[in-house]
Amino acid sequence: MAAVREETAAKTARVLILLGPPGAGKGTQARLLEEGFGLIQLSTGDLLRAAVAAGTPAGLAAKSVMAAGGLVSDDIVLAILKDRMAAPDVAAGVILDGFPRTDVQAAALDDLLAASGQRVDAAISLDVDDEAMIARVAGRYTCATCGEGYHDDFKRPLHDGVCDKCGGTTFKRRADDTAETARERLKAYHAQTAPLIAHYERLGVLQRVDAMASIDKVAEDLGQIVGGLLAG
Ligand SMILES: [Zn+2]
Repeated sequence: MAAVREETAAKTARVLILLGPPGAGKGTQARLLEEGFGLIQLSTGDLLRAAVAAGTPAGLAAKSVMAAGGLVSDDIVLAILKDRMAAPDVAAGVILDGFPRTDVQAAALDDLLAASGQRVDAAISLDVDDEAMIARVAGRYTCATCGEGYHDDFKRPLHDGVCDKCGGTTFKRRADDTAETARERLKAYHAQTAPLIAHYERLGVLQRVDAMASIDKVAEDLGQIVGGLLAG
């Protein structure tokens, strides 16, 4: 009997949550985890759109709320998530993106998963150094012709004012790529995420990865965590 239960548990899809501020490389890393481990990233927006398009009961409920200009309730999002996670392509596991956002949602997600013998296996925080992130964002600009990215401190063109790639001489900066807006974004991120971090720390599933390392190194660190979970 114990052996049967173990086999069932091993087949249960893993549930991962990836946390990280804008610029921490969350999108890139989620894609690498999808490719490397057969995980599926589920973003709240995509889930809602797909459920509405498919006309599932929860999708129809979401549609009428959105049509009335309202916010889709946690219950509806959870119902849609539950439907999606029962699909056959979700064999290895999912990376949740954009949900939960609050500790209330996190607790509701825990309950939903518990009903099918699952749980959040890991909440992985892509940790950044705020001041270094602000410096990164604040100095960046792109070639207006080819889109090549540059940075005031870290990546200047070989010849001042001339794009290395295309020879273009016009560059542009996003209006919101300033130290001030970067600082505001990080502050908002930390305020929103702190309760989630605390929640998953309490459950003993919080993992931290240094997201200031190279993309390859971050991918390697994440791969070790996720590989361990899938093998376990
Ligand atoms: Zn260029």
